[in-house]
Amino acid sequence: MKKTQLSTTLTHYNADGSELSELDRRLVERAKKITQTSYAVYSHFHVGAALLLENGEIVCGSNQENAAYPAGTCAERTAIFYANSSRPDVAPVAIAVAAWREEDQEFLDNPISPCGVCRQVLVETEKRYGRPIRVLLYGRNGIFEVETASALLPLRFDSDAL
Ligand SMILES: [Zn+2]
Repeated sequence: MKKTQLSTTLTHYNADGSELSELDRRLVERAKKITQTSYAVYSHFHVGAALLLENGEIVCGSNQENAAYPAGTCAERTAIFYANSSRPDVAPVAIAVAAWREEDQEFLDNPISPCGVCRQVLVETEKRYGRPIRVLLYGRNGIFEVETASALLPLRFDSDAL
């Protein structure tokens, strides 16, 4: 028998972004801002994602819900699919995510992380462009950074298996 340890490293930054680069700070701010366009009439959970492309452009998305729940989509996938369809030749290199609950009217204390489906899409996007996507997760208590989306999805299923 043999055991393998799989680990993911999180870098913690101050919530005010003072330890981030100017560009990353802007990316987090854009993720926070785009939560305002969220259509979250069922969950009342407003999520924003800002995707930094290799050309410096930032593409944003928010969660868009539907009465038929699976028809809705998360902020991360809204941003990624919008970028992939509008800028198919430009690799995404980082994504920031922020969220708030309607009942609180302020951003979550602790960062939320992309759901499993979004992680799968982020990993496919990394593979498609051959570039890692850094992940920045905003919370009022701090910002987490993960160097690659793949690190959020160990033992993943991908096209190598097909
Ligand atoms: Zn998701």
